Amino acid sequence: MKNMSGGFQPCWGEFRRLRRRWLLLLAFYVPVCYSAGWLSVRLFGSAKPAFVLALGWAVAAGLWGFRMIFWPCPRCGQAFLIPWGVFTGRCSRCGLPKWADPAGGAGMAS
Ligand SMILES: [Zn+2]
Repeated sequence: MKNMSGGFQPCWGEFRRLRRRWLLLLAFYVPVCYSAGWLSVRLFGSAKPAFVLALGWAVAAGLWGFRMIFWPCPRCGQAFLIPWGVFTGRCSRCGLPKWADPAGGAGMAS
């Protein structure tokens, strides 16, 4: 449900930001690391700086993924995505649909 400012409710807005950033981290992992490796070999003659970047990027994606997976359901406060993961459409504990108003309003499709 959209609020008066035109965005999603604050609780879902945080989830949406977490999900978007995590997907961006995943989507750009290979292109960025490959480009960094190519550039690193050209500039320094070694791929070590690119490995450091790749390792840091992987750690960041993992930590961001944990933040998203353990994001609390707006209604019951339990981890919303556990046990079904990012493709779940509702909370497995209380049944709140994704994007729905936790106070009882209608949900929105993702
Ligand atoms: Zn719930």
